[in-house]
Amino acid sequence: MNLGNCPRCGKLYAVNFREVCPACIKDIDKEYERCATYLRENRGCGIQELSEATEVSYRQITKFIREGRISLIDAPHLAYPCEMCGSFIREGNMCVDCRSKLMKDIGAVNEASATSEQQRLKSGYKIGDKFRKE
Ligand SMILES: [Zn+2]
Ligand SMILES: [Zn+2]
Repeated sequence: MNLGNCPRCGKLYAVNFREVCPACIKDIDKEYERCATYLRENRGCGIQELSEATEVSYRQITKFIREGRISLIDAPHLAYPCEMCGSFIREGNMCVDCRSKLMKDIGAVNEASATSEQQRLKSGYKIGDKFRKE
């Protein structure tokens, strides 16, 4: 049996697949119930309204959505904040803007390493030498 501190309440517990202690699992299930009930009655609500009405944090609601426990199909106005900029999104971890920016950054990094590779081939430097010099 593995013991660990629950990341949610800090208590020592036997580590399980849910990552939090049994008391927190119950809490989270109750929070989910509150969200699900509220959403059933207020299909058009947004995450702010849902969070205020149920006293469940954005973070937890976002988690429910990501886990698929709360379906956005049943909640047409529900969205959660982008991890990068906080603008509201309905799928993935990031908004389209941040994703394309990230892709550009990754592209730039790839390009840069491709360029240094070419330089290395041209100049005959070992890559380690090049980094040490710069
Ligand atoms: Zn706990
Ligand atoms: Zn964003």
